[in-house]
Amino acid sequence: MSQPLVDVAIIGYGPAGATLANLLGQLNLSVVVLEREAEIYPLPRAIHFDGEVMRVFETAGLRPEIETMSRPGLKGMHFDNAAGETLLIRAGTSLNGPHGCANNHYFHQPELETLLRQGLRRFPQVQVLIRHEVMSIEDGQAHATLQVTDLETNQSKTLRARYVVGCDGARSLMRKVLGTTVLDLGLHQPWLVFDVRLKTDVPGLPDHTVQHCDPARPMTYCNVTGNRRRWEIMLMPGDDPEQLVQPDTLWKLVSRWVTPEQAEIERAVIYTFHSVIAQGWRKGRLMLAGDAAHQTPPFLGQGMCAAIRDVANLAWKLEAVLQGRAGDDLLDTYESERAPHVRAFIDLAVRLGDIIQTTDPEAARQRDAKFKAGQPEMFQFPAPRLGPGVWHGDAEVVGRVFPQPLLSDGRRLDALVGSHFAVLGHASVLSKVSADTRVRWQAHGVVQVTDESAALHTWLSEHDVQAVMLRPDRYVMGVARTAADLDTVSRLLPDLCKPVPVSA
Ligand SMILES: Cc1cc2nc3c(=O)[nH]c(=O)nc-3n(C[C@H](O)[C@H](O)[C@H](O)COP(=O)(O)OP(=O)(O)OC[C@H]3O[C@@H](n4cnc5c(N)ncnc54)[C@H](O)[C@@H]3O)c2cc1C
Repeated sequence: MSQPLVDVAIIGYGPAGATLANLLGQLNLSVVVLEREAEIYPLPRAIHFDGEVMRVFETAGLRPEIETMSRPGLKGMHFDNAAGETLLIRAGTSLNGPHGCANNHYFHQPELETLLRQGLRRFPQVQVLIRHEVMSIEDGQAHATLQVTDLETNQSKTLRARYVVGCDGARSLMRKVLGTTVLDLGLHQPWLVFDVRLKTDVPGLPDHTVQHCDPARPMTYCNVTGNRRRWEIMLMPGDDPEQLVQPDTLWKLVSRWVTPEQAEIERAVIYTFHSVIAQGWRKGRLMLAGDAAHQTPPFLGQGMCAAIRDVANLAWKLEAVLQGRAGDDLLDTYESERAPHVRAFIDLAVRLGDIIQTTDPEAARQRDAKFKAGQPEMFQFPAPRLGPGVWHGDAEVVGRVFPQPLLSDGRRLDALVGSHFAVLGHASVLSKVSADTRVRWQAHGVVQVTDESAALHTWLSEHDVQAVMLRPDRYVMGVARTAADLDTVSRLLPDLCKPVPVSA
């Protein structure tokens, strides 16, 4: 008897897999998630995500829950030299930053993953199989086939899916099946990650992140949430990794800030931070996302953020293809758009790593001389542009994430637009588009927003345009000064005439 066919099989139930399952569940697709481990990964990993990622959680309908377990970080990240002078600050934002929330949020990864998993209870058509390991994946004409072992019973199962996304982490099986090579971007450095829970108030511990750029021992300090605090500590030549994770050594390393009387050890683990990117994220019905496709050193707190951006990019494209509104070559734009975008973040993290990880005292002295300690330079990383794909034009804003204005009725834009395309602008221009554009807008459920809010009008006039077209992942597809410009941008909407690419 043939197995039921699902729209999408997701391998891996980490943050990438769980977020993708929520987004696809909302789009009403049938999904199976396969996860080898019995429990959520308990070791310390991500503690920061950004405002754009909060918007993805908002689109997935989970922002209120996620706000209750996370903490907005408003003061940014400080880079201090060995003398404690601030050299550089990655600026924070207000609570109502460009994405309609703070731009930095701190959290405990296992708690976030719990909420993402609970979110799936809303979708009866999303099935989660825990303790199920995918052993092999085969692409086929009409569907892909997965051989899966139920690790509780040791029985094998065969599953069929129209598309399979490998959110299966750094040691990805999917990457091996695709035969994808990995480009090494040069940084591989062991760091000790030391998590504690404070037992009492510890005066003097900052509530913002500090990069201690001390050549004798580079370290990062983070206020996570509640009483959780983290130190990331670079391994130095001559360190004995086994000795380093012993409580006596750990307390000595952080004795400037905290004592064993004030805190208890949650975990101490040595990780090697990598900077790599896979080349070849899709073949036929098989795709990669998250750590399976790229890894970055965590100096910017962007590894998981990139994973969430991957799946936000992929979800609406999979839906358009599976519902027959686009040919499956739309999926080729997933890697072409995402790879340069994530590369920009990895390159910046590597550059910041060069500042933080300087261990030669003379090089550190020269570095410090370059910055004006006491009058630290503030920097904001401008949102990178997607690589070539579903966007058009050479205006600066095109291919980049759009901010989230508050609308005149008090709603945030994303609450109005949901998982749809949107066109925002002056009614006088929107009303003059061609009949062909109207048909496309209707077929793709494009939401028209002619809101009179000051935020939207200011954005349009600042960019000297009359309208802007957004994709379901909130990236700017194009801008328009005239109705004819909007017709041009709207032609990017996946072509309805293309044949439906898959069949059961
Ligand atoms: C010390 C440290 C600090 C970090 N800090 C940050 C930060 O502040 N901000 C940030 O954004 N990122 C940070 N990151 C990165 C972040 O933790 C990862 O990018 C994120 O967890 C990747 O999610 P993922 O879902 O792609 O992969 P994973 O979380 O690794 O999930 C993959 C899942 O796939 C499952 N799996 C694998 N193979 C199979 C198979 N064959 N069958 C079934 N299941 C399978 C695994 O069991 C696992 O559950 C940090 C990482 C580290 C190590």
